[in-house]
Amino acid sequence: MIPVKAVLATIACTACVGLQAQEQYPQPEKMTPGMSEYWTPQPSVVTPGTTSSNAFLSAPSDAIILFDGKDLSAWKSVNTGGQAEWTVKNGAFTVNKKAGDIQTKDEFNDFQLHIEWQIPANISGKSQARGNSGIFLQGKYEIQVLDCYENQTYVNGQTGSIYKQTPPLANAMRKPGEWNVYDIIYTAPVFKEDGTYRVPPRVTVIQNGIVLQNNTTILGTTEYIGFPKVVKHGAGPIVLQSHGDPSEPISFRNVWLRKL
Ligand code: MG
Repeated sequence: MIPVKAVLATIACTACVGLQAQEQYPQPEKMTPGMSEYWTPQPSVVTPGTTSSNAFLSAPSDAIILFDGKDLSAWKSVNTGGQAEWTVKNGAFTVNKKAGDIQTKDEFNDFQLHIEWQIPANISGKSQARGNSGIFLQGKYEIQVLDCYENQTYVNGQTGSIYKQTPPLANAMRKPGEWNVYDIIYTAPVFKEDGTYRVPPRVTVIQNGIVLQNNTTILGTTEYIGFPKVVKHGAGPIVLQSHGDPSEPISFRNVWLRKL
């Protein structure tokens, strides 16, 4: 039989080693936002083609209409689950910063999303505090929306970036006051039993006819501070961001989605 004293000594010693290890090695430095931001190389500026009028391509016959210019009945508030209280006017809807993010009532897997957005002509601010919004795919992965027309920011946070992960291949911005068009093709991830990706999510992003993301692998959630996280999930909504920056709120129109 092992004496009680010896057992206690062993436990004490194990705890002691753990304690020594903690004292011996420094803890990882606390992550700050700047640690995951980089500013070069800046993608080339590409001037998009123009349309002869303010007309837009209407939805194809098999699309799910998420906004047809009239109301936000396809959306709800992320905070309350109730009505999406962003402002609808003149065939577009505008972020209401007091009301917070909104999300589609429906949830999706693979899809093609068409969404148009406009930075107001009188936009102010700089870097990330200038027309910041975002489109979260399956509620998890942000494709950045920002005014990057003659406004520099960290490249992995600029328009069309997978936020804090992958910069866009080009800067395809139209001027504030003009409409930008996003076409986003998204393939949902497949998970292993242990919650890691068997097949990670992928995304193609086209802005105003210019490819910004070419079937890019998404590494995980798009965190403001720290690294991407792999979080197991199923079908998810499209979430539109109400960003806390003080600049003038941006607008959206002509939003539709095709399930793939
Ligand atoms: Mg954003």
